[in-house]
Amino acid sequence: MCASKLAQIALDNPLRTLFDYSVPGDLVSALQPGCRVWVPFGKRRVIGIFIGMIDHSEVDADRLKNIQQVIDEKPVFDPAVMALLTWAAYYYHYSLGAALFTALPPALRKATASTQLTQQYWLINQLPSEALQRAPKQQAIYTWCKQQAHDLIPVAQLQQQFPNSRATLKALVEKGYLVPHEAAAQTQSRPLLIKHQTVTLSDAQQDVSQQLLERLGQFNTTLLEGVTGSGKTEVYFSVIEQVIHDSASQVLILVPEIGLTPQLVARIENHFTAEIGVLHSNVSEKQRLSTWLRISQGDIRIVIGTRLAVFTPMPELKLIIIDEEHDASFKQQEGFMYHARDVAIYRAKQSNIPVILGSATPSFESLNNVSAKKYHHLQLAQRAHSSQLPLIHTCDMRNESASAILSSTLMDAMQQHLAQGKQVILFLNRRGYAPALFCYDCGWIAQCPRCDANMTYHATHDCMYCHHCDKQMDKPDNCVSCQSDNLILMGHGTQRIEEVLKQKFPTSSYVRLDRDSTRQKGSMERLLQDIHAHRYQIVIGTQLLSKGHDFPDVSLVGILDIDHGIYSADFRAMERSAQLLIQVAGRAGRRQIRGEVYVQTHNPHHPLLNTLINENYANFAQQALKARAEYQLPPYTHHVSLRARATDQAKVQHFLDQAKSIGREILSDQISIQGPIIPIMEKRAGQYRAFILLTRPHRGIYSDQIQLWIHKISTLRAARRVHWTVDVDPIDAY
Ligand code: ADP
Ligand code: ZN
Ligand code: ZN
Repeated sequence: MCASKLAQIALDNPLRTLFDYSVPGDLVSALQPGCRVWVPFGKRRVIGIFIGMIDHSEVDADRLKNIQQVIDEKPVFDPAVMALLTWAAYYYHYSLGAALFTALPPALRKATASTQLTQQYWLINQLPSEALQRAPKQQAIYTWCKQQAHDLIPVAQLQQQFPNSRATLKALVEKGYLVPHEAAAQTQSRPLLIKHQTVTLSDAQQDVSQQLLERLGQFNTTLLEGVTGSGKTEVYFSVIEQVIHDSASQVLILVPEIGLTPQLVARIENHFTAEIGVLHSNVSEKQRLSTWLRISQGDIRIVIGTRLAVFTPMPELKLIIIDEEHDASFKQQEGFMYHARDVAIYRAKQSNIPVILGSATPSFESLNNVSAKKYHHLQLAQRAHSSQLPLIHTCDMRNESASAILSSTLMDAMQQHLAQGKQVILFLNRRGYAPALFCYDCGWIAQCPRCDANMTYHATHDCMYCHHCDKQMDKPDNCVSCQSDNLILMGHGTQRIEEVLKQKFPTSSYVRLDRDSTRQKGSMERLLQDIHAHRYQIVIGTQLLSKGHDFPDVSLVGILDIDHGIYSADFRAMERSAQLLIQVAGRAGRRQIRGEVYVQTHNPHHPLLNTLINENYANFAQQALKARAEYQLPPYTHHVSLRARATDQAKVQHFLDQAKSIGREILSDQISIQGPIIPIMEKRAGQYRAFILLTRPHRGIYSDQIQLWIHKISTLRAARRVHWTVDVDPIDAY
């Protein structure tokens, strides 16, 4: 068969392989890598992505099917992003096809949504404007329109020039002066001007900014470690300014949470007149597609998005900024389990551009890369508003009654701060009312029938919920085991604190911010605005509160239970708790007065906790990293986890045993294999779980062997009886 007529196509399925198709002669010239095509697959017709031509196929020539149609004139992914995704699929041992389809905007995944961009315009009819004399508003708009160089004026442009003129425009349309018109989008973007210098950088900020500017134009990674409120964002702006000064350049900013984007977008819009491309899953499909396409064409030059945005084609990308780089939400936890920070760094290297990682509490990975001289390290040790960092105290809960939620010390402090007209944050990373229902007579605890976990009582709905599988049950009146009615609710969740506040702070207004209170679309933004506007005096919240929010009137933060992180079986729990503590503490005293933080614990003498509280995060991290080194844990070694789950425990065990023995045969003895390990919560949502942990000495080393291992285990019969996944550089214990 003629060599040029065989194509490799990536399909959206989990098989870690590409599919061979033959190319009819008339389609050959239309095929470019990164184009979508229609191909037959089984009895269906599916969309695939053309990867490249091949000389030879393992499939018999008479069994090869034809590509039916080439969908795109221009590839949806440019060569740089194709290369990035190819690398990422390999590094994370995931199907290239599924990875490509994950990265595509949803609209392009299914139907053949057009990649042709259209835009709404006003078409101007040439009529005498004198006839509008009695309608001065209409005349003003129409005269302005006629002065423009073109007959087609983008709707958005007119809107910007004459805001709030819907009624006037309607009149002009009715009189035939303007006609709505859809046409191909204009390609030039708005000029990028710097609107107003919002702040003057401090000397420290200027120094940091200067060093970042000197490193533009080539690949390098800088960890910008700045305490909460030190003005990192202003430093980003000063660097972005310089980069977009060059007429075409693009900048990508990655943020951990959707919830954070409106604030940052508002700040960027306040700073630059540029159109900001916002990419996250809460944007409508149509909007997301159009934004994505315009970014790919280079029309939008400042892009801010959550992790998936790292795969957006950006022809003129010159800088990547990752804000809150330590945040776990940069790692996708299902399907294509990539880490957006790590992918971004690879992308920067590939494009020979700089990356800035910003955080007040850097990840241990990044700190280790600083020690290894792979990253530059810049620090901002002071807050921007010349306000000091908050004073952190520990409250020894052993002095309190066993059922106390708020220590007397904390309550005294609350009284003081509230009396001064300030706001208080109470942080507890546990939603619901009480995490356990317990029988006093026989010790029975209400458990989820589908998980190895307690049911949490929710007072708002007066029922029991499982936080792991969302199962819901009525609260029993009697013990299921001994029928006693001596049942008590143990422990505290955010809802229970409301009750305490009602008793102890009856005149203070409070609000709860957790996943339950923010389920409705837009409710999170509303609550944040209300808190910002000081509509509430006390805010009770989970980790949703910890991220980057700037509440000017908060002067006191109570961290109600830090012990959970200290005793977890997950070796990363302490790192995460420390980051959370510092981030939440950072919400206090961001303006004139010095903030205070009270950390309630039963372990006031815990060495790491002491270092964190009495010294700082950096010293804590150094100390904790020593322990990681001693036990040969990440970031000093690198994990790959093979997880399996099934309703039948034996099948999980059998599959992992086989996988392990194949691993012993074919993997280098530099890779240690542990397991099968049973996670603490073995059963979840009715399925038994276990995993095998590979530990390798360097990142990405022996990937070829691991790829072969995965290939071998995927052909096992036992593999078909369980659900299994591979997680490279996992961040969770299971
Ligand atoms: P970070 O990103 O480090 O938490 P931000 O950039 O959000 O810090 O700055 C915290 C607050 O300080 C913001 O309200 C910001 O506008 C303000 N700020 C930052 N730099 C300066 C400065 N040089 N002068 C005045 N205010 C500043
Ligand atoms: Zn009982
Ligand atoms: Zn459950």
